[in-house]
Amino acid sequence: MNSAKIMQIFEDTAYVRTGGSPEELRCAEYLADACKQMGLEAKIEAFEVDMATMQEAQLLCDGEAVPCKGYLCAGSGEVEAPLYYLRNTDKYSLSLCRGKIVLIDGYMGYWMYQDLLENGAVGFITYDGNANYCDFDIDQRELRSFVHKGNKLLGVNINAKHAIDLVNKGSATAKIVLKQEEYKGQSHNVVVDIPGESQDTIVFTAHYDSTSLSQGAYDNMSGSIGLLGIAEYFLRSPHRCSLRFIFCGSEERGLLGSKAYCADHEAELSNIVLNINLDMIGCIMGKFIACATAEEKLVSYLDYFSMEQGFGVRVNQDVYSSDSTPFADKGIPAVSFARIAPPNTATIHNSYDTVALMKGEQMEADIAFICAFADRMANAMRCPVAREMPDNMKEKLDNYLCRKRAKA
Ligand SMILES: [Zn+2]
Repeated sequence: MNSAKIMQIFEDTAYVRTGGSPEELRCAEYLADACKQMGLEAKIEAFEVDMATMQEAQLLCDGEAVPCKGYLCAGSGEVEAPLYYLRNTDKYSLSLCRGKIVLIDGYMGYWMYQDLLENGAVGFITYDGNANYCDFDIDQRELRSFVHKGNKLLGVNINAKHAIDLVNKGSATAKIVLKQEEYKGQSHNVVVDIPGESQDTIVFTAHYDSTSLSQGAYDNMSGSIGLLGIAEYFLRSPHRCSLRFIFCGSEERGLLGSKAYCADHEAELSNIVLNINLDMIGCIMGKFIACATAEEKLVSYLDYFSMEQGFGVRVNQDVYSSDSTPFADKGIPAVSFARIAPPNTATIHNSYDTVALMKGEQMEADIAFICAFADRMANAMRCPVAREMPDNMKEKLDNYLCRKRAKA
């Protein structure tokens, strides 16, 4: 995959493609077609996702309208209550949520939502964007079903500058009005096989969906192009292992594509010896990392291997917030590769994630390193990585997947 071809794909896919949208399917078809051009048959596999069409979303603070986007799948209705800014999440601060519409910092995660419910909040406001950006973009958020589990609070997302303004003015009351139609829709994984001599299978994953404001060039058309590059490499290189490539949908909505894949292909999982996941590579600035959700020995191996290749890599053992995690949770050793940009040179999940962050030659170099590693694994007489999760990774998976609350 040469630099010109890589940049062409970034140009061809420079559009927002949120999980379950027609644009996401358009991109799935584009990727399937790119595989076909290499002589590979791609299957597009559908899976069910929650969808909603927002008809009305309003936030009024002290009677004044504040620009907002309503949380999808958070129900319809209206609520009016005192406004409370939850600065800290200690027990005392949380106890003041009762009967309030609560403004929080950061994402509405699983435990934050449980805290709000337990402490009697009646609605919530999140904010995103950056006080120093010139735009007032607001990301479209959703209340995920595994977060609300049937207990829905009305919520809106606003811009950081408006959040600052509300707190600065000391706004006392808030009113949220949401009207939306909720329904089931479909998102898609694109699955491609290159059979080897053995049933032992290496599964390569990368998500191709984006968030609501983002063209997702860096996060993660870069990784999707990486998969195409790896497939191209193995079409001309021998490999003992069978190889499966999965372009995952709806990763940004909670790893839904890889979770659906693992659920729908349960019987085949026992053949998988390793998952190699790509989420954000090839940007102009930043360091290359390998995050192994596997035994510690793989960390040492990757460290040695990077020296052998003369390619700088920071290797660690952890759970990576990406499509590797559902595989790791099934006991499959997984490694995620990424090139992490310093946050003041490239950001994601906003309108600034475009092809302007990307460099064709860096993409080529990153893909070449991943191919070199994959080649070793695909041609090992026996995959050397233990096919079991060490206890420390099991605990991290429990935390990440919200089965256990991480100690603060
Ligand atoms: Zn990503």
